[in-house]
Amino acid sequence: MDQAISEMVPLAGSLARVEWRRSARARRVSLRIDPRDGAVVVTLPLRAGRPAGMALLMDHADWVAQRLAALPGAVAFKDGALVPVEGVEHRIRHMPPGTLGGRRGTAWLDEGELRVAGDPAFLERRVGDFLRAEARRRLSVLLAQKVAASGLRPSRVTVKDTRTRWGSCASSRALAFSWRLVMAPHFVQDYVVAHEVAHLQHMNHGPRFWALVDTLTPHTRAAVAWLRDEGPRLMRVGP
Ligand SMILES: [Zn+2]
Repeated sequence: MDQAISEMVPLAGSLARVEWRRSARARRVSLRIDPRDGAVVVTLPLRAGRPAGMALLMDHADWVAQRLAALPGAVAFKDGALVPVEGVEHRIRHMPPGTLGGRRGTAWLDEGELRVAGDPAFLERRVGDFLRAEARRRLSVLLAQKVAASGLRPSRVTVKDTRTRWGSCASSRALAFSWRLVMAPHFVQDYVVAHEVAHLQHMNHGPRFWALVDTLTPHTRAAVAWLRDEGPRLMRVGP
């Protein structure tokens, strides 16, 4: 099991939160930024000491500082906040009692707003529930298309809050997707679903895997670039 300890480390003129992880699986000292909370994660193999991690950190201090500075601020699900839905920013708006307009449910999209009715104390949870349900609905439509096109069928599909992956395919043929994909543009959702469906045939990222992905979506190149550039921001929205 991995262990984590957290401390503030002076880095390139400011303080960075560094999370030390010791991992039996790690083969070398490594460094990454967790875009969700802006922590610098240093992973140490069992045989490496903290000085090795600190040396790597100091060698890359400028890179780390630049990456931290480039992280956009976190966005909470609060009245007035902007949240992207399928690539389009929507403002969260709490609707006072009596303005439901006959709609079902307690959250809906209208006129560029994500409108939420009911007790404001539950607004944050309602926005989260709404976006998860939307993710499930939109990804299911795409999945049905890819299943029909490929003849490849997953054993089950779940929508989760995965921090490090947009989608995954288990050897049991179960697919999982991050609910955060609902915030990404449609072409990105299309690509991620195609990618995971292609893993039902090829459990690797070899040339035959990518050839199959390309038969299922025309968006691979653009979507990979979008996820690299814009993906970290989506990790900082919501709970
Ligand atoms: Zn993959």
